Formats: sequence, structure tokens, C-alpha cells
Amino acid sequence: MTAEIIDGRAISKEIREGVKEEIAGFVRSGLRPPALAVILVGSDPASQVYVRNKKKACHKLGITSIEHLLDAAVSEKELLALIGKLNKDPNVDGILVQLPLPGKLHEASILDHVDPRKDVDGFHPINVGRLVANTEGLRPCTPAGIVELLKRTGEGLVGKKVIVLGRSNIVGKPTATMLLHESCTVTVCHSKTRGLKDICLRGDILVAALGQPRFVTADMVKEGAIVVDVGINRREERICGDVDFDNVKEVAGYITPVPGGVGPMTIGMLMVNTLKAYKMAR
Ligand code: NDP
Repeated sequence: MTAEIIDGRAISKEIREGVKEEIAGFVRSGLRPPALAVILVGSDPASQVYVRNKKKACHKLGITSIEHLLDAAVSEKELLALIGKLNKDPNVDGILVQLPLPGKLHEASILDHVDPRKDVDGFHPINVGRLVANTEGLRPCTPAGIVELLKRTGEGLVGKKVIVLGRSNIVGKPTATMLLHESCTVTVCHSKTRGLKDICLRGDILVAALGQPRFVTADMVKEGAIVVDVGINRREERICGDVDFDNVKEVAGYITPVPGGVGPMTIGMLMVNTLKAYKMAR
């Protein structure tokens, strides 16, 4: 069996087209377009690329992108003051603090300071609580993108056995929670999990979010399973995922490529969240 490739680029494009049309409608009716403020502290090259891509995506959809590029030496007080100002600004709908922050800045207290209504990353404790309670709120972008990709296979999620590899706050845990709300039976694995291979082999759906290049091999995948590769690992100037794509695709029913799978969905869902925050403010 050769797996069907889940084309994250095409799905993300379709989602972004929908966002673009909706924004054009608001602008035609005389409203200002949505605005996203992105804060980048320091000069981490990968973060600079992500911020540039987010700006480009905003521009294409008619979202106003406001960049705040801060020196790595910025104090926590100054950063909190900027967030406070953006929280109060009625012309800003979304605020995104690009992670990771330089070591001396306390990430959790900075993210806590973002107004939950403008928290387009979905990392604020209030939005985390809403996710767990399954009530209306802004959901984290990568997990929302993963769920969307799974739904688009048309295979139906109810009752599926899902194995999530990784328990981070930004990918593993929220993905597991969202899939639980889709009525999947979810198992979350991490670096201390025993018998990982046997657990993986039980999964109708396998989500790999470990940050370990080509960790998931063909002998860990159930025939016909849906495999979602979240990993972004840089190897000799090339990017590879957490799944041994070439061999796993011969066993899986569906698989996401890296690049071109989950990555484009993350930006797509950020655009969806920015529009959602804009609509919620009205
Ligand atoms: P973290 O490093 O925060 O978490 C990794 C998780 O994997 C941890 O829970 C860790 O376990 C677990 N883990 C690591 N090694 C093993 C192992 N050998 N066996 C079992 N479990 C293991 O990573 P993130 O969640 O932030 O990201 C995961 C990957 O996804 C990265 O490659 C990242 O670059 C990528 N990513 C991609 C995005 C996209 O848009 N496509 C967005 C965000 C991330 P433990 O908790 O025990 O340490």
C-alpha cells in the first residue's frame, strides 16, 4: 500500500482563500481590516523566517501586520508595557509573541499578559482552560491545523484510536485534548513511555510531535493508519520530519509530508484566529 499524501499546502491555501473573501466583505462594508501585531525579541534566524512568513501571509489576505522588533536586551518590564499597550489598542485584534524568547525573559508571565481575546496563539491560561472545557475560545494553531488535516481525509474521527507522540504545551497536549473532543480514544506518549512501538502499532491515527528526526519507522505503524508528522528538524541544510516518510508511506493509509504538511496549516490557522479575534471584538 502507498499512502495518500495529505497536501497541507493546498488545504491551507483553501482555508486562507476563505479568510481573504470574508475580510474583503468586511472592508467592502466600510470596516477596517483585521490587524495582527507580532512581537519578535532578538535575532534568532528561524524566528525571523517565521515572522517574515506570517507578515507575508497577512499581506496576501488583507490583514494589517504590525511588527515590533525588539532588541534581545529588552527588559521584561518594557516588553510587558508594550503588550499592555497593544491590549488596549482598539485597532489591534491579535497579538503574537514569537517564541522562543531569550532566556532571561519569563515566557509564561509574558504570555499571561496578553489579553485572552487577542491571544491568537491560544497559549493564554484562559484559552487553555476553554480548550480543556471545550468551550468557545482561541485554539492553538498547530493542533487546530492537525485536526483540520485529519478531518479533510474524510475518514471520520469518532472512535478512532489516536497515539500522540509528545506532550508539549504547544503541540502534544492541545492536540490530544482536541482529538478527545472529536471523540477519539487518545493515548499520549513521551520520553518515559514504555513499550512505545507496541502502543504506536495500535493507532488508527499517529501524530508525531517529538522533534526527533525520522523517529517513527515503518515497523511502528499499523497498516492503513493516518500518520501526521509535526516535526521540523534541520538536517544538513534540509528539513525533515519526525517520521521516516519514504518507508512509512508504504504502510500508512494517509501521511503528511515535511515540508508541505502541518507547517502551512499552522500559518493558515493563525489567519483564521486573527479573523476570529476581529469578529469577537465586534
Ligand atoms: P518539545 O521539545 O517541547 O516536546 C517534545 C516532546 O516529545 C516531549 O513531550 C518529549 O517527552 C517527547 N519526546 C522526545 N523524545 C522522545 C522519545 N525518544 N520518545 C518519546 N517521546 C519523546 O517539542 P514541540 O512539541 O514544541 O515540537 C515537536 C516538534 O514539532 C518539533 O520538531 C518542532 O519543531 C515541531 N513543531 C512544528 C510546528 C509546525 O508548525 N509544523 C509547530 C510547533 C512545533 P518529555 O516530555 O518526556 O521530554
